[in-house]
Amino acid sequence: MSSLISDLINLSESTKKITAEYVWIGGSGLDMRSKARTLPGPVTDPAKLPKWNYDGSSTKQAPGEDSEVILYPRAIFKDPFRRGDNILVICDAYTPAGEPIPTNKRAPAAKIFSHPDVAAEEPWFGIEQEYTLLQKDTNWPLGWPVGGFPAPQGPYYCGAGADKSFGRDIVDAHYKACLYAGINISGINAEVMPGQWEFQVGPTVGIAAGDQIWAARYILERITEMAGVVLSLDPKPIPGEWNGAGAHCNYSTKSMRNDGGYEVIKKAIEKLKLKHKEHISAYGEGNERRLTGRCETADIHTFSWGVANRGASVRVGRDTEKEGKGYFEDRRPASNMDPYLVTSMIAETTILNK
Ligand code: ADP
Ligand code: MN
Ligand code: MN
Ligand code: MN
Repeated sequence: MSSLISDLINLSESTKKITAEYVWIGGSGLDMRSKARTLPGPVTDPAKLPKWNYDGSSTKQAPGEDSEVILYPRAIFKDPFRRGDNILVICDAYTPAGEPIPTNKRAPAAKIFSHPDVAAEEPWFGIEQEYTLLQKDTNWPLGWPVGGFPAPQGPYYCGAGADKSFGRDIVDAHYKACLYAGINISGINAEVMPGQWEFQVGPTVGIAAGDQIWAARYILERITEMAGVVLSLDPKPIPGEWNGAGAHCNYSTKSMRNDGGYEVIKKAIEKLKLKHKEHISAYGEGNERRLTGRCETADIHTFSWGVANRGASVRVGRDTEKEGKGYFEDRRPASNMDPYLVTSMIAETTILNK
């Protein structure tokens, strides 16, 4: 960027006005959209932000002759790009009559999380978002020779070095930006497939887990945009013996975290087993390409669980078994899952389904 342009972007504010970037989910259920507006002063409570609208016919969310979709502000994060009192606002979308539009998965999720039985259990989620960085002109993973393949998997997971780690500056910039924004990001690591990375968000309570994952995805889209690299949430970007990308969902309720929790965990896993098909159908598009029973996954058609087993649908950690309480990991969700859908479904199945 020319220095004059960056000078202008970094102009220090001469007014109390702030910019709010309203962020929402578009018609594919995965594409993120945003637009900015000026507000008279700082805001910290989403309920104090104005509703807004957008052209739903341009996002495949409304017909052209009745195109208005209304944005309801739901969660505020500090804007790491504009800084100061400027904010990112995670929104969900409604018809003018006040009905959630079909792609709004947040509204039904919020309903489940506000159920008194669910709220009383204070459900915690720790989501491991895996993703792949692609070269912009070829859509081939970052660091891979164009038209060819790198050396087989092995040295890349948590690896370092110019021949093993591709895109660390993007990953670290994202980590910092999420911390700045107020996202409960708990860590990052390089993945098994070169060019693939992971960040974790959590433990975060209830609907906030979904809000934070979407905010973190948005920030990652913006940083990869600046880097000229393409973000892919495809669950199996390269077929064959290259690891796919998931979004493991670590989960616990108050009863699971308290003494005797392991018994509650085992009951919850039994409930998940009975609803395996329903869960799989909500766990992301193209997940059948990833859950092959190979590359550290369980077969998509069979539910299994085990202690410390990374080839199972659900894994219980050694510590949880030893202490008789803790949490478990649902390893089935794909990288492109909707966290509102996945978290609320797990809570519904394990808490509300008697
Ligand atoms: P893995 O060993 O599967 O790679 P990670 O360390 O990547 O696991 O992610 C584990 C996630 O689980 C983290 O985000 C962590 O904060 C979260 N977590 C830890 N304890 C709990 C808990 N009791 N309930 C829900 N999530 C938890
Ligand atoms: Mn992990
Ligand atoms: Mn991982
Ligand atoms: Mn995991």
